Amino acid sequence: MPLYEFRCDDCGVFDEWRSLAECNNPAHCPTCEEPAKKCLHHRCCCLVRCD
Ligand SMILES: [Zn+2]
Repeated sequence: MPLYEFRCDDCGVFDEWRSLAECNNPAHCPTCEEPAKKCLHHRCCCLVRCD
């Protein structure tokens, strides 16, 4: 399962494991629980783009 990087406007970047089926679902910041945007890149070497 790839590790995706998300960015909260208030709290900064955090990582979350996501399956490919869930990669387009919005993440929620673990600190303030606001919706966070997925960064354009992720840290795994998977070639599948989810954007
Ligand atoms: Zn936050």
